[in-house]
Amino acid sequence: MAGDYYQILGVSRDADKDEIKRAYRRLARKYHPDVNKDQGAEEKFKEISRAYEVLSEPEVRSRYDRFGEQGVSSGAGGASGFEYGDMGGFADIFESIFSGFGGTGGPSSSGRRNGPIRGDDLRLDLKLDFREAVFGGEKQIRIPHLESCKVCQGNGAKPGTSAKTCSTCNGIGQVKRATRTPFGSFAQVSACPTCNGSGEIVEAKCDSCKGSGRKKETKKLKITIPPGVDNGTRLRVSGEGDAGSKNGPPGDLYVYLYVETDQEFVRDGINIKSEITVSYLQAILGCRIQVKTVDEDEELIIPAGTQPNQVIKLENKGVPKLGNAVSRGDHLITIKINIPTKISSEEKGLLAQLAEIKGESTGKGGLEGFLGGLFHK
Ligand SMILES: [Zn+2]
Ligand SMILES: [Zn+2]
Repeated sequence: MAGDYYQILGVSRDADKDEIKRAYRRLARKYHPDVNKDQGAEEKFKEISRAYEVLSEPEVRSRYDRFGEQGVSSGAGGASGFEYGDMGGFADIFESIFSGFGGTGGPSSSGRRNGPIRGDDLRLDLKLDFREAVFGGEKQIRIPHLESCKVCQGNGAKPGTSAKTCSTCNGIGQVKRATRTPFGSFAQVSACPTCNGSGEIVEAKCDSCKGSGRKKETKKLKITIPPGVDNGTRLRVSGEGDAGSKNGPPGDLYVYLYVETDQEFVRDGINIKSEITVSYLQAILGCRIQVKTVDEDEELIIPAGTQPNQVIKLENKGVPKLGNAVSRGDHLITIKINIPTKISSEEKGLLAQLAEIKGESTGKGGLEGFLGGLFHK
């Protein structure tokens, strides 16, 4: 049995929206099942919610005024057709009643659920050269983002004026609509179309930001690149995204790193690869040779009898581990062996002698043919 909705909320039949809302909030706070564990409190809360559901919606209210409960019920179910717990409606209601409590604002702060909104996160792609990625360092960047307007302190109202509570939603930022289905009626909550969910209307807009409370500005920032970053490493710069709305916190800036290729070195995780070329004689006899590393040049010992594409490792000359820079990868050097395409007649004579000593001398197709093919005189 549903009682009279006006009686349930304790308001007169000509009460305005504000009065109805105040009465609902006061009662809902008192009987909310999360707060009130008394027997019957939940039932009472359902009644209150149902009454508010009907009376807060002008169209539904006028049907109720004309036809009573029958005008707004879904038929057989009567008042029990209203299910406040489903579809997330409960959480919404709860939040709109209780937000602003327990915080710094106390009971005087508004119950608007549409409070501060965090700013957007932003992405910036940043190119580093090979050594910057290996060793890290400081980088200057310029980032266009929304900053809170300094003229109006971010509230969007002309200095000296203030934003007014939206009369469509009474500052809640949302409007509720009862949707009837064969299973009962549900409260559907959507953003208020008048204030776009902010709960406020700015009548005299701040000139500087045109009422948005935020302004696009390009900010210069110095960011620290840690040693060992690689292609695709993402750095988070806290608080440098867009400013929040309504004094909400700013978003974060994510810097995605791209490492440019190097003429000398190739990155392979924490190892660095490069190539050097020695002559066939250096490969056969062995030698010492200067090679470039990401640090200073190093003397590399090529042992006698080095084979083509043999890899020599310089330990600890690779990339510092990201987050643990004392530990480094290796530098791997692939040895290329240069076989000359042209040799002098003197060299040719010496090689022919050598071939004879080694017993590799033959006629056509033998050493002559081999060297001829190899060296194209
Ligand atoms: Zn402004
Ligand atoms: Zn509104």
